[in-house]
Amino acid sequence: MCKKIIIKLDDFGTLTKKVKYTDKIVKFFKIKVCWGIIGQRFETTTEKDIIWCKNALKSGLYYFFNHGYTHIHNEFKELTLEEQIEHLMKTQSVVKDKLNIVLDTFGAPCNSYNKEMVKALEHIQNIKYWLYGEDKYNKTNFNIPSTNIEHPFPNANFKKFRAGYKKCSDDLIVLQGHPNSWKFKHFLEFIKIIIYLKLKNCEFIFTKDV
Ligand SMILES: [Zn+2]
Repeated sequence: MCKKIIIKLDDFGTLTKKVKYTDKIVKFFKIKVCWGIIGQRFETTTEKDIIWCKNALKSGLYYFFNHGYTHIHNEFKELTLEEQIEHLMKTQSVVKDKLNIVLDTFGAPCNSYNKEMVKALEHIQNIKYWLYGEDKYNKTNFNIPSTNIEHPFPNANFKKFRAGYKKCSDDLIVLQGHPNSWKFKHFLEFIKIIIYLKLKNCEFIFTKDV
């Protein structure tokens, strides 16, 4: 069956060597990817990196999402509702300021949050999509799939991915990766996963395309 795939890549702050590796794969295979921006790290991004981001957006292969502000472990697990809204807004604001875009998607650092998260997200009007969130969210939530890229975090593993994929009946799956934490061999595993999905005629989409 032909599935729709959203590639959720976490932890974008600056243009690291590993972001550049990933970019070569993205461009070569012409896949669409969604990178999660960490607001605080993005504040110190250089002008050169900003130009890269703008060109990435223009290519039509990239999408960015709000991946929290500090990304200190369990950022949204420890914060009050007001603090969560503040952190969400700070990232919205730095990205608007530097890239002149309004983020419409959120994915929590470590996919970790407390009971205030639904209310905090519902407070941010422009955010309409939540990656790995709650079904009770009143906009669009994408659940954690039964198969994924990394087994265990952050080791991209084609064989384990394929075994899970064969059993997965979902029409749409959001696959998560952390390229900045990958070793070189994990990029090769990721390439195998992409080739496999291409051979299955999967369609790579952004959250807004659902
Ligand atoms: Zn993260």
